[in-house]
Amino acid sequence: MAAIDGLPPLREVIATHGLAAKKSLGQNFLLDLNLTAKIARQAGDLEGCDVLEVGPGPGGLTRGLLAEGARKVLAIEKDARCLPALAEIGAQYPGRLQVIEGDALEIDPLAHLTPPIRVASNLPYNVGTELLVRWLTPPEWPPFWESLTLMFQREVAERIVAQPGSKAYGRLALLVSWRAEARIALSLPPEAFTPPPKVSSAVVHVTALPEPRYPADPKVLERVVAKAFNQRRKMLRAALKGLAPDIEDRLLASGIKPTDRAETVTLEQFCALARNVAAG
Ligand code: SAM
Repeated sequence: MAAIDGLPPLREVIATHGLAAKKSLGQNFLLDLNLTAKIARQAGDLEGCDVLEVGPGPGGLTRGLLAEGARKVLAIEKDARCLPALAEIGAQYPGRLQVIEGDALEIDPLAHLTPPIRVASNLPYNVGTELLVRWLTPPEWPPFWESLTLMFQREVAERIVAQPGSKAYGRLALLVSWRAEARIALSLPPEAFTPPPKVSSAVVHVTALPEPRYPADPKVLERVVAKAFNQRRKMLRAALKGLAPDIEDRLLASGIKPTDRAETVTLEQFCALARNVAAG
């Protein structure tokens, strides 16, 4: 029986097009169209928005995004086997689905998108964090996207939304919270996917702030945070020794005790330290 959008159920799509999941491409498919519609709704109001989707696979989430009213979906897929299935979706939504075959790490999607732009993807786990970091560190802020709605392994999702003092707190949480707002929107058990991965997953929703919460030079902030967390168990006066000869004074001037460890330092304090270091 056809699904609500007039297209065949995803199990049938997979059987018809021979889309046996490939581990090397991080393929864990979502086959429940109610679930993909629910994920699409987490991306906010899609009417009048272009949506970038990385790794559409057989197109479950793509169908959700189109049914939820996306003006256009630009889908980048590395696995050529998925293209005929995606073409069938395109035929059902004329002019609203553009598929590019290739590696999302090597393709610049911006030439094909018109603002406002949202990003929504059930990401391949092997490239998920790298894409997130790229989207969070564009040359200019605000970025090209208004929001990111992305599937991650639960453990990575927790690192994205982590607060100071927790084990998961680190570079990723600081990078996100400096210029964006992030929350876990949905949690999914392994059985939600075919084949089921070994671990649970979560959808993270990230909204871009118009400007950073505290002023800082992005490169200096990144350097300070990276150094601090590279040796997260060390006191900061030791972990940051190479940053400046008078690092203890600089820490104190930024409201940080030299004996503190990175995982207790807040975003505001890291930004103050980055400004102090940049001042020379
Ligand atoms: N979105 C589909 C779903 O929810 O059922 C598939 C999700 S599956 C976790 C990840 C998808 O990303 C696969 O279709 C895989 O072929 C594709 N993929 C893997 N690496 C990629 C890359 N570097 N660029 C673009 N697509 C990629």
